[in-house]
Amino acid sequence: MKGYVHSLQSMGTVDGPGVRAVLFTEGCPLRCAYCHNPDTWEMKEENLVSAEEIAEKIIRLYPYIKNGGVTFSGGEPCMQSEFLYEVAVLLKDKNLHIALDTSGCILDESTKKLLTVTDMVLLDIKMTSEEDYKKYIGGSFGKTIKFLAYLEKEGIETWIRHVVVPGINDTEEDIKKLRKLISDYTCITKKELLPFRTLCLEKYENMGIDFPLKGTPQTDKEKLNKLQKIIQ
Ligand code: SF4
Repeated sequence: MKGYVHSLQSMGTVDGPGVRAVLFTEGCPLRCAYCHNPDTWEMKEENLVSAEEIAEKIIRLYPYIKNGGVTFSGGEPCMQSEFLYEVAVLLKDKNLHIALDTSGCILDESTKKLLTVTDMVLLDIKMTSEEDYKKYIGGSFGKTIKFLAYLEKEGIETWIRHVVVPGINDTEEDIKKLRKLISDYTCITKKELLPFRTLCLEKYENMGIDFPLKGTPQTDKEKLNKLQKIIQ
């Protein structure tokens, strides 16, 4: 089948273990205030690609990624779980490690099927309350936690990722709350705090949309390191 593909990054080193190919799919039901990929929100007809074609492109990168693997990212990749399942099956033939970078907002039967061929999940827990999810993300905290509970039940290795935004979720209390929320899950092998960045401003300007966090400073590196020590 065909899927909506935004781009393929050939030598990623931050989205999972080792050197990886990162496949960015199009389509996202969320609208995170700090989103740095607004250009992936919509599915565009002209970007339809077959599972075979994209798997072939990835397999060409095999010499570089054989010790790392492939990460499905977006957008929200679980909007196209059936398509990614087909891609993953083709990649599994080559023994490539598959990671899924998701917000955990879609756990339907197709996503469950995709998870059967997924080696690990990078789960983005964006906020720590239903209220903040509604205000800053346009999504549901409860759905993300249900996704995490499913990963635990299935024993799928999970890295938690969390963007720290100044003035919104950057206090020690915020991070302690996150730590407590995820403390009982044995599937979690890594917790990563990521900085809020404003590099995406130009994309918003080019798209003619307002950046909701315009004026918010980037996350201070020292502060981020301090918070990272709390969550470890
Ligand atoms: S889930 Fe990702 S792509 Fe979707 S709005 Fe949030 S940051 Fe952007």
